[in-house]
Amino acid sequence: MKSNSIVEANFTGSHAVVIGSSMAGLLASRVLSDHFEKVTVIERDRPPETPQVRQGVPQGHHAHLLLMAGESVISQLFPGFFDELQAGGAISADASKDVCWFQFGVWKARFKSGFTFCFQSRTYLEWHLRRRLSAYSNVHFLEECDVTGLLSNRDRTHITGVQLKQRNRQQAVEELEADLVVDASGQGSKTSRWIEALGYQKPEETTVAIDFAYASRRYKCPQNFQEDWKSLSIYNKSPFGKRIGGIFPIEGSQWIVTMGGYFGDYPPNTEKGFLDFAHSLEMPHIYEQIKDAEPLTPIYTYKFPASIRRHYERLSSLPEGIVVVGDALCRFNPIYGQGMSVCALEAKTLDTCLREQRQHRDNRDITGLNRQYFQQVSQVIDIPWMMATSEDFRFPQTQGKRPLGTRFLQWYSAQLMELCSTNPTVLIRFLEVLNLLKKNTVLFHPYIVLQVLKWSLGFKDFNKASAERPRLEETEVKVAADISG
Ligand SMILES: Cc1cc2nc3c(=O)[nH]c(=O)nc-3n(C[C@H](O)[C@H](O)[C@H](O)COP(=O)(O)OP(=O)(O)OC[C@H]3O[C@@H](n4cnc5c(N)ncnc54)[C@H](O)[C@@H]3O)c2cc1C
Repeated sequence: MKSNSIVEANFTGSHAVVIGSSMAGLLASRVLSDHFEKVTVIERDRPPETPQVRQGVPQGHHAHLLLMAGESVISQLFPGFFDELQAGGAISADASKDVCWFQFGVWKARFKSGFTFCFQSRTYLEWHLRRRLSAYSNVHFLEECDVTGLLSNRDRTHITGVQLKQRNRQQAVEELEADLVVDASGQGSKTSRWIEALGYQKPEETTVAIDFAYASRRYKCPQNFQEDWKSLSIYNKSPFGKRIGGIFPIEGSQWIVTMGGYFGDYPPNTEKGFLDFAHSLEMPHIYEQIKDAEPLTPIYTYKFPASIRRHYERLSSLPEGIVVVGDALCRFNPIYGQGMSVCALEAKTLDTCLREQRQHRDNRDITGLNRQYFQQVSQVIDIPWMMATSEDFRFPQTQGKRPLGTRFLQWYSAQLMELCSTNPTVLIRFLEVLNLLKKNTVLFHPYIVLQVLKWSLGFKDFNKASAERPRLEETEVKVAADISG
């Protein structure tokens, strides 16, 4: 059992309650275990004994990429975590050498980038996080239990706990007091409605409607598989092509094959329809790999109508003692693989705010903590939100308010993504930004701006026809001198 020896004499509070034990809840709980004497994680599902999709997280059937920023935070919170995952079958991969990615009509260059990350299923990742968290002696789980409301003090200025109902008991609603409540209940979060009922305004919402759907299926990785890649993705060129697809390796020598389509152009869940959809992608590679591969599961589908961001940071008043994390705060279009990594960055922000709180306030005073958190975390969300939505706005059908400068960003990133087919330096910077390791301003370094301008003026050097997937040895690797910014 882990104890919190470094801070135990100096806790910020005695009890924190977390609603939901999925990615955001587990990561936030780990952070809270350093700051509160006791952390209670309340989850409506019964935890699976083995990594399995559960009712509260149906998206677990679909490919879940964890960006490098997310992997880095999880490694800090749970040292050795990804070594354990790999020992159990997760796949380590170089972000360029082992990944074939067709986007904007070109294959990205392939070379040993030195940026590695881990492929695993969502269920395996979450199951191991829960296992590691349960080793903390001050973290307790209340399962098969629904949070049905918030408790507040008499003048409604502080949230003082939650109301809950145990699923298998007839008993009426129970109450659980807490110094801090963290809402990690996902897209169906009721915090905005609950605080409205206490007399506060609901946070404004920004919605970008994309009418997107996924279909996914697990396959056995073929025994005679001899390609020089571990994962392969094909994104049809937007705004004309609305379809994407990918093969992602996971533990147990399996693949998850996930395909998706925008604006009603959904991948079907029938045998023939799934294969036909793969065949219709701009490149045939996914179809060629799966047409004879052995399927291990049915085809699961998932509809994703819109990305939604709730702006708690804009509220002029808010009760103390409540914080919102994960999809409950911001839900991203899944094709950019940002959701879980943003959960990790939010947990890190919560940790920073709790540490600052301890420096600036009397012990155990959390006044103003949530205001600080919502301000800081909105800056964390700004960049991935802008990156994802500006790509989605390439489609004229996308509904939502297009921010100023979107057209320029789209033009710039289109040139940049084409450049990624030939210029390893640009590709490395792009991968760093995509993986939320660096801010997107590094893509406006003078070296990159010059390359983009030259490219747009016609000095193009596509890696032969885009139809030919670059093999590793064919790609000349010349990374420009340090241009880090
Ligand atoms: C199809 C699809 C594919 C995706 N692919 C990726 C990807 O490749 N990479 C990536 O990073 N992200 C991806 N995402 C996003 C990712 O799944 C989410 O960002 C992530 O799961 C958010 O976690 P969360 O903990 O905030 O919410 P959720 O995962 O939605 O979990 C909420 C939890 O709260 C519990 N709960 C809800 N209400 C209550 C209540 N009242 N009381 C008690 N418990 C409650 C639920 O049972 C559940 O366990 C994808 C999403 C979808 C839909």
